Amino acid sequence: MEVARRRGFVWPSSEIYGSIAGFIDYGPLGAMLKRNVENLWRSFYVFQEGYYEIECPTVGNEAIFVASGHVKEFADKMVQCPHCGEYLRADHIAEENGIENAGTLSAEALQAALYELPCPSCKEPLGEAGVFAFNLMFQTTIGPGSQRKGYLRPETAQGIFTDFSRLLRFYRDKLPFGAVQIGKSYRNEISPRQGMIRLREFSQAEAEIFVHPDRKDHPAFHRYADYTAPLLTIARQLDGQEPAAMTMRAAVDEGVIANEYVAYYIALTHRILTAIGVDPVKLRFRQHLIDERAHYAADCWDAEVYSGRFGWVEIVGIADRTNYDLRSHAGHSGTSMTVFMPYDEPKRVVKRRITADMGVLGPRYRGKAKAIADALAASEPGEDGARVTVDGEEFFIPADLYQVREEEVEVRGEEVMPHVIEPSYGIDRMIYVALEHSYAEEEVEGEIRKVLRLPPAVAPIQVAVFPLMNRDGLETVAQTITERLTQCRILAQYDDSGAIGRRYRRQDEVGTPFAVTVDYETLEDNTVTVRDRDSMEQVRIPIERLPEVLSALISGAATFREIRA
Ligand code: AMP
Repeated sequence: MEVARRRGFVWPSSEIYGSIAGFIDYGPLGAMLKRNVENLWRSFYVFQEGYYEIECPTVGNEAIFVASGHVKEFADKMVQCPHCGEYLRADHIAEENGIENAGTLSAEALQAALYELPCPSCKEPLGEAGVFAFNLMFQTTIGPGSQRKGYLRPETAQGIFTDFSRLLRFYRDKLPFGAVQIGKSYRNEISPRQGMIRLREFSQAEAEIFVHPDRKDHPAFHRYADYTAPLLTIARQLDGQEPAAMTMRAAVDEGVIANEYVAYYIALTHRILTAIGVDPVKLRFRQHLIDERAHYAADCWDAEVYSGRFGWVEIVGIADRTNYDLRSHAGHSGTSMTVFMPYDEPKRVVKRRITADMGVLGPRYRGKAKAIADALAASEPGEDGARVTVDGEEFFIPADLYQVREEEVEVRGEEVMPHVIEPSYGIDRMIYVALEHSYAEEEVEGEIRKVLRLPPAVAPIQVAVFPLMNRDGLETVAQTITERLTQCRILAQYDDSGAIGRRYRRQDEVGTPFAVTVDYETLEDNTVTVRDRDSMEQVRIPIERLPEVLSALISGAATFREIRA
């Protein structure tokens, strides 16, 4: 983090006024790294999967979050130290003191567990300090007069759910389809003491994939069927075992992962996290325990990454949320959130049709007659008549005022409420673990070399260009090369200050994977050296081949070893 701060990756926010925990600034290199991580994510979810991106406001009106359950439920258990007044997250204190799965305990159980434990701030025992729920949403008012309550969104997902009907039309009324959103989310975390891991304003990348409830076979499952990922299943957690590597096909066949969709996104997540520089040895997929997972979820897995500083950290959540979100929004908004699924062949079914005798109903019930007839049509009549309710008023309609007929009708399909598969990524956490895992200090020729082994696809600067000396025309050639590379959309940085060795070290420290050096030989034969950050080996190539060779190296189409060969 010292390197990250010094070299312009991450800074505390509004430092000159005293920064507030839970807010960070991305400096020039950090912002570039973040953009690259987001674009890599897009290359999978938007390009490969074909799930279009949408962009919704970060402020939402209250009704959205009443329907989503956040107003009522999105709370953490908090305790205030009776001695020093510090607000603390009750489950975190319990877990830091060895109480497992404290997040699943009730307020009463947590309070009992905390009784003897010391406040992390003043070290006094917490004693009778009451545990209570604290809603994590930032509340605001919309417009003057404070009439309309709003919230900063605590996740990006809700915008996709509220746009469901429009998305369905966009995707031509067919399942499955998906939409993604990358953007800021806000949670008023109680005591964020974990740097980039627990922020009050952070970026999420979420995908909501709408699938037929009975068809959870992913149409492109073959892509990842043989992909292996380390799975820490419920059973293995209960037995105190380590994760076991399994192919996605085996995990689905053996019922370890609920369905192909969830398995597919576990594999995809493994690919994305390793592609940004997460060490695969420090990555596992942990299944939520039954009492940890939301009551409506069919299955839920967290991608967890081991951090030397914070232990195992949840980076991504992958859940089968069933139809919980659509059902809640349909109920609260009165909007239909179903999809008409035509049958392969129309079916003939026998239906009961109830037709009211309007000649009698009309004069008897006047303005309400039509509503009563409609209610009658949907009713379950008894032998002597039917009871119906209209505008909260109950009516008994005797059997001689309507006719019941059985009819064979043709049914072309059915209305289905889709289930939602949701992979939800925390971008800032991805960046933190990529930085932590990429960073190394090694001895080179008696000196410590600090190197950030970020994969070329996410490194903020892709190529450094150096003139060996800042004279004799070497600098002009190097500047021309820098311009040429930039025109080819390669992020190149020109640097002519200090000894060449120091310039290499500076670029190693910020993760620049390749460096081009212009020397006196260049003036004779138009070749330059390209140096590889990780092996520190060099190869000489003609200037005109630079864009092609560097593009291949950055995209991963070629390795440095292949170029040298
Ligand atoms: P959740 O909706 O809680 O499952 O969050 C989805 C993802 O967002 C998590 O896996 C984290 O990577 C990320 N996330 C959640 N809360 C925070 C936070 N306070 N700071 C940074 N990232 C977070």
